[in-house]
Amino acid sequence: MPYLVREHLFIGNIGDAAEILQNGSNEITHILSVLSSASISFFSEWRSGISIPCKEIRKVYVGDSGPEDVSHDMSKTSLSPDRLLYSLEYAGKDLKFVRMAVPLRDMESEDLLDYLDVCLDFIEDSRKEGSVLVHCFAGVSRSAAIITAYLMKSEQLSLEDAIESLKQSCESVCPNDGFLEQLKMFEQMGFKVDHANSIYKRFRLKVLGDSYNRGEKIDGSKFVADPGLTAEIVSSNVEASAGKQAPPTPAYRCKKCRRVIALQENVLDHVPGEGETCFEWHKRRSRNSFSRSDDNECSSIFVEPLRWMKTVVEEGALEGKLTCAHCEARLGYFNWSGIQCSCGSWITPAFQLHKSRVDISTI
Ligand SMILES: [Zn+2]
Ligand SMILES: [Zn+2]
Repeated sequence: MPYLVREHLFIGNIGDAAEILQNGSNEITHILSVLSSASISFFSEWRSGISIPCKEIRKVYVGDSGPEDVSHDMSKTSLSPDRLLYSLEYAGKDLKFVRMAVPLRDMESEDLLDYLDVCLDFIEDSRKEGSVLVHCFAGVSRSAAIITAYLMKSEQLSLEDAIESLKQSCESVCPNDGFLEQLKMFEQMGFKVDHANSIYKRFRLKVLGDSYNRGEKIDGSKFVADPGLTAEIVSSNVEASAGKQAPPTPAYRCKKCRRVIALQENVLDHVPGEGETCFEWHKRRSRNSFSRSDDNECSSIFVEPLRWMKTVVEEGALEGKLTCAHCEARLGYFNWSGIQCSCGSWITPAFQLHKSRVDISTI
C-alpha cells in the first residue's frame, strides 16, 4: 500500500505502482516512476505475466528545448546531451493514468539534481489535477529523495526537517548518501538547481571526474567555452554599442601574452587550509576563526575545465601541464585525481592556474 505524505501525494514501491496501474484507483491519477529504465516493459521484466497498456505522449531528451511553454535549459547540466530526461504517457487500466517515467539508478554517483526540476514540476501539476504516486523500486531511496526535495521546496524546509517530516508518513525512507549530498546542495542553492552557482559547478566537475575515473572518454562539449575567444566578441559588442557601458568582468590573462584564459565566473573557490576535498559540505560551515591558513596564502586559483586546455581534451591524460593556447607559456597543472593547494586544501579534480603566471584585469 502506498503511504500518504501530503494531501494528494503518495510514496510507494514498484508493487504499489503495478497494482494501481493494473486495477485502477479511486484516488491516484498520476504516477511518477523513478526506475533504472523509463520503459513500461520494466514492469513485465520485474514480474512476468504483467502487461500494462500505454500510449506515448512525448519523450524529452537532455538538450531538447522542451515542449511549448516549458523550457528547461539543460545545456549546462552534467547529463550527456543524448540522454533521455523523461517520458510521458497514458498508462494502465483504460489508459486512465498519466505516467511520467524518469530513468535513474539508485547509485550514489547518479545525477539526481538534474532531474529534480522536471520531477518537482510534475508532482506540483499532478496534485492540482488529482493525486500523484511517486514510486521507485523499493520506495526507500529514489522516490524518497525526490519527495524530500519537493517538501524542501514547497514548504521551505531544511533537508533534515524534510526527511524527518517524510519519516512521519513512511518510516523506511532512506535516500542514499550521494542523493543526500545533492539534496544538501539543493538547499544551499535556495531550493533550486542553479547551473550558474559555484556549488553546482563543483558538482558538475565532480560528475565529470567520476566519469573520467570510470574510464569514459571525456566529452569536450562538457568543457566551458574558451573565454579567450568569447572575450573578443564581448569587447567588440561593447564597442559597437558605445555609450552603454557593460559592467566590467574580472578576467585572468596570461602574464606573457595577455590572452584571456579565464573569467571570474570560471573560478571555483575553496576555503583555504581546509580538509581533504572541496566536497566536505559539512566542514564548510564549521570553519573556525583560528584558521592557520593565514600563513599559507593560496598560490593558485582553480577553475572549471576550459576548452583551450588541449592536453586535457585531446590526450585524455590523468595529469599534465596547462599551457597558454596562444604563446604556450606554462600556466599551471591539471590532475583528475586532485592537487593540493599551497594552503593545504585538496581540490579534486583540479585545474590549477599559478597566480604568478596570470594577471587579473577587466574586460
Ligand atoms: Zn588554497
Ligand atoms: Zn600566453
